[in-house]
Amino acid sequence: MKTCPKCKELVGDNVDSCFNCNYNFILKRVPSYEETIEFQENIAAVKKKQEEERIELIKSAPRYEYTTARIIDNADGSTNQMQLQSVLMEYANAGWKLHSVITNEIGKNVSSVSIGRFTGGTNATMDEVILIFERMISRGNL
Ligand SMILES: [Zn+2]
Repeated sequence: MKTCPKCKELVGDNVDSCFNCNYNFILKRVPSYEETIEFQENIAAVKKKQEEERIELIKSAPRYEYTTARIIDNADGSTNQMQLQSVLMEYANAGWKLHSVITNEIGKNVSSVSIGRFTGGTNATMDEVILIFERMISRGNL
């Protein structure tokens, strides 16, 4: 915080002018009405230019498309590596690059049999694996 030298109001360190009396910390005085308008117009012009540059940057950036593929675990809960391998090959051949992977638990198979004091059973967790693929569709001109 800093103190306005004119009205003694406490203002933020990176504030250019006092909200109470309009004292300008850069000019070190209270600007005229015309100066205040000019100052505000300059700020608006800078913001407009920054926004135009941002839009230009977005327009010229490379473009991508995305798709997903779903792989379900084997019945015993292990990863279906065969399917995973073939899906990866298939997409790679079509120009896709693996972007990210989501694993989602879709169920548990629980069965237990009790015979006397012996209990047997299986407890496998089934997951689905979602592969997210990315492919560039336009290079852009950055
Ligand atoms: Zn002030």
